[in-house]
Amino acid sequence: MLPQFELYRPKCLQEACELKGQGAMVFAGGTDVFVAMHGGRLRPKALVDVKGIGEMQGATFDEQSGLNLGALTTHRTIEEWDIIKERYYALFEGCSQVGSVQIRHRGTLGGNICNAAPSADSVGPLLVFDAKCVVVGKEGQRTVPLSQFFAGPKKTVLAADELLYRIVVPPPAQCSGSAYIKYTRRKAMDLALLGVCVYLALDGNLLRDVRIALSTAAPTPIRAYQTEAMLRGKSTEDISMEEMGKQAAAEASPRSSWRANREFRLKLIEELMQRAFSTALARAGGDRR
Ligand SMILES: Cc1cc2nc3c(=O)[nH]c(=O)nc-3n(C[C@H](O)[C@H](O)[C@H](O)COP(=O)(O)OP(=O)(O)OC[C@H]3O[C@@H](n4cnc5c(N)ncnc54)[C@H](O)[C@@H]3O)c2cc1C
Repeated sequence: MLPQFELYRPKCLQEACELKGQGAMVFAGGTDVFVAMHGGRLRPKALVDVKGIGEMQGATFDEQSGLNLGALTTHRTIEEWDIIKERYYALFEGCSQVGSVQIRHRGTLGGNICNAAPSADSVGPLLVFDAKCVVVGKEGQRTVPLSQFFAGPKKTVLAADELLYRIVVPPPAQCSGSAYIKYTRRKAMDLALLGVCVYLALDGNLLRDVRIALSTAAPTPIRAYQTEAMLRGKSTEDISMEEMGKQAAAEASPRSSWRANREFRLKLIEELMQRAFSTALARAGGDRR
């Protein structure tokens, strides 16, 4: 049973920001919020349904500026959009593995990000594509790199009156490839026990750019900056896959939980890092995904 609550359905961002600033809880798809309310972990007195706010909808792609995604863009929209498979393949891999088709129809990218779970499947791919969050509050608009958006598990840098408004993702470079590997205990409807995401761009045999994100490997999704620095500028033939895997694991701080212990997660990072890197490299080589 859900507890009683006031329900607001604002039609514009400013009104939603005001309500949030007064302490009401925002929801978009509600796939995290209502589960938490059912379980008794959340007891908001007032809820703000933002799904009807037109400014937060719409998803476009432009060769110069990349993706401009309303926070209300669903995982299903991303999964079914050809440009994502052509240019941002890891994002397709992340979004298409969220829950079930029903959950992906309802759940939004904004909700997945703002829920700030270490396991969020869209976040690793968005991190490696260098996504920025456009945030709106009563005082106006600001842009926060996604890599600086998380303040801890279930915590973001959003102020009380602020909403995630849009997500902007630059276009990937020519000769680039990406891969997201989600490790779960079973094939369907399971959260990531560990997630590794790699984006790389080639200049001949040289790694012009490399970005790596790890999920469920720390209190928030993280970038493995030291591993990236170790690889950047190297020839693909000179890379020690084993060393790369160990370095990525050294940057993580996973916890033990009922799903898996810390040691197993560290071993997974070593192994999945090598697999994700090899897949991204193959995709950068010929197959443009
Ligand atoms: C059965 C099931 C399976 C699932 N499987 C997965 C999975 O495999 N992988 C995965 O990553 N997730 C999974 N989830 C979690 C969930 O579906 C996703 O996190 C989803 O993207 C949340 O989006 P939403 O719009 O429903 O968020 P909501 O539930 O509406 O909101 C989530 C949080 O974000 C805040 N919020 C939402 N939008 C905004 C905004 N624009 N600005 C500021 N704050 C905002 C809310 O206040 C709340 O704190 C699953 C959930 C269920 C119920």
